[in-house]
Amino acid sequence: MLDVFTNPVTPFAQNANLLVCQTTKHAAIIDPGGDIEKLIAAINSANASLKAILLTHGHLDHVGAAKQLAETYDVDIVGPHLGDKFWLDALPRQSEMFNFPLAEVFTPNTWLADGDTFPFGEITLEVRFTPGHTPGHVIFIEHDSKRIFVGDVLFNGSVGRTDFPGGNAQQLKQSIESQIYSLPEDYTVYPGHGPTTTVGHEKRTNPFTSGRFG
Ligand SMILES: [Zn+2]
Ligand SMILES: [Zn+2]
Repeated sequence: MLDVFTNPVTPFAQNANLLVCQTTKHAAIIDPGGDIEKLIAAINSANASLKAILLTHGHLDHVGAAKQLAETYDVDIVGPHLGDKFWLDALPRQSEMFNFPLAEVFTPNTWLADGDTFPFGEITLEVRFTPGHTPGHVIFIEHDSKRIFVGDVLFNGSVGRTDFPGGNAQQLKQSIESQIYSLPEDYTVYPGHGPTTTVGHEKRTNPFTSGRFG
């Protein structure tokens, strides 16, 4: 089974999720956006052995500590989809824009595509391609514990912005409906910002996908 430890990082309170296999203590971290000392402390206190860094998309608040963390633990950076390469290439400019510590450009060891799987310990994550907030956004699903890690695609009561370069509101809605709302209603959704929710709750109440905002 899977343990999840959520660590809000950066001034944007981005949820860096540490995923730990209960049996092996092998771990992966999704979206280490910054505050690397906090993330190292979380890994230590979970008694976990970090095996990989997974990225949902290329925005700075999600990837800011990825390169340094990869070097610290000698692990691979996996994801996002190649469509977000331009965001990773623009990391120094993103750092300036948001007044963050300078994040160096890096290239992930592996780009992800729809239908890929990522195993660690006794856990397997399914990868789904969900463009709209960014053109190369992916989400990670752990079916055994019914959890979805959705980055900035879907939030509790809201959806990701689409006014950045490469954003597309129609595509975002389609990604949510085909890739998230197609899952069983009792799956827990872990957004990149804010509290968790469930597929069923968002399906019934999210104003951005219920038609009210087109
Ligand atoms: Zn984002
Ligand atoms: Zn974000």
